[in-house]
Amino acid sequence: MSPSPGPSSRVTALETYDIRFPTSRELDGSDAMNPDPDYSAAYVVLRTDAGDGHEGHGFTFTIGRGNDVQVAAIDALRNHVLGRPVDEICDDPGSLHRDLIGDSQLRWLGPEKGVMHMAIGAVTNAVWDLAARRAGKPLWQLLADAEPEWIVRQIDFRYLTDALTPEEALAILRRGREGAEERRARLLERGFPAYTTSAGWLGYDDEKLTRLAAQAVADGFRQIKLKVGADLADDMRRCRVARQVVGPDIRMAVDANQRWDVDEAIRWTKALTEFDPYWIEEPTSPDDILGHAAIRRAVAPVKVATGEHVQNRIVFKQLLQAGALDIVQIDAARVAGVNENLAILLLAAKFGVPVCPHAGGVGLCELVQHLSMFDYLAVSGTTEDRVIEYVDHLHDHFLDPVVIREGHYAAPTAPGFSAAMRPESVAEYTYPGGAFWAADPETQKGQAA
Ligand SMILES: [Mg+2]
Repeated sequence: MSPSPGPSSRVTALETYDIRFPTSRELDGSDAMNPDPDYSAAYVVLRTDAGDGHEGHGFTFTIGRGNDVQVAAIDALRNHVLGRPVDEICDDPGSLHRDLIGDSQLRWLGPEKGVMHMAIGAVTNAVWDLAARRAGKPLWQLLADAEPEWIVRQIDFRYLTDALTPEEALAILRRGREGAEERRARLLERGFPAYTTSAGWLGYDDEKLTRLAAQAVADGFRQIKLKVGADLADDMRRCRVARQVVGPDIRMAVDANQRWDVDEAIRWTKALTEFDPYWIEEPTSPDDILGHAAIRRAVAPVKVATGEHVQNRIVFKQLLQAGALDIVQIDAARVAGVNENLAILLLAAKFGVPVCPHAGGVGLCELVQHLSMFDYLAVSGTTEDRVIEYVDHLHDHFLDPVVIREGHYAAPTAPGFSAAMRPESVAEYTYPGGAFWAADPETQKGQAA
């Protein structure tokens, strides 16, 4: 055990890094809306003078240009964090979270949406990483072990109480404790179900799609996902190829990444129904609550899924109130961190809608697995119809990478939020001065221009 930090220890540094990976060169991650992403992280490290060796790591995910803007937004939060007592923010991460959300001048840039909100998410998640490391527990376990009353105090219920009150949240969490020990044993033994998007990127040809879809089934996945939305004839061919490869029993989701207007989404999804898609993901703008509701009514029994670009708990609330979605896709780094995702998990439980997180990108799998495992142990109590997205990109850059066994996420055992990147990866891929980018003629030409 590391020595426990003195009561007066404080946060001494908030360091930020602009980290970009050149993923666009392989068309990894390509979809109808994002044809050439360079998967990136606006990365933050909190250091303290506790002398226990623990740091807090967090980040938000972007896809290249603008990652510097995201880093600047995190930098703008520095003064809220420096000098804060470590005990205070780790015993009650909600205390710092509320101060970040409540900054009356920065709030103008949202409120509670966009670059500033994601920055708050990165810092909030770094605090949770630090808290879990100091507690000697993986984050999922810290959350599952916590008293329901404490969890409820971590949540900002402002704008939620017409759909979910603190008392209702408490009741859900108290009920969630029943059978938790049994579920914990099952989680440690089996893990949490995953599905894979690795086969279905839009830029892959049919040969690669065929090979990777077959591989997914052989690896034990019970669901795959295909990107759609650029060209209907192409989509029909790719869905036919994939369905032939995986057979009728494997679920096949399709993802349009916001490509369509509402009527177009309905037409296009109906045209794909002969291939039995399980859900249509992000059919239209993530802000269009009534549009999602209309699509859902029209395309049933195909399910409607969204959430990776849903900007905050208030939009999730309305999507649920409007009956606009069948699947809630939380993202660990889009909203304002763990605290806001706790609210969204409880909203989904209240409305009886399964949570199937968005992941992939840089480190999103590493983070969000903790939230789903908490959901299973302490909120929804089930993995039925629940799957976490898995993409086999960039895990090697993390110190505690996800482990997938037979189509399941193995429960992480290392303390923390699995958020820390390898120092050598940070050094190599820091933009534009890291070794990789410094050796890239295009990048250096752009910098000189
Ligand atoms: Mg998606």
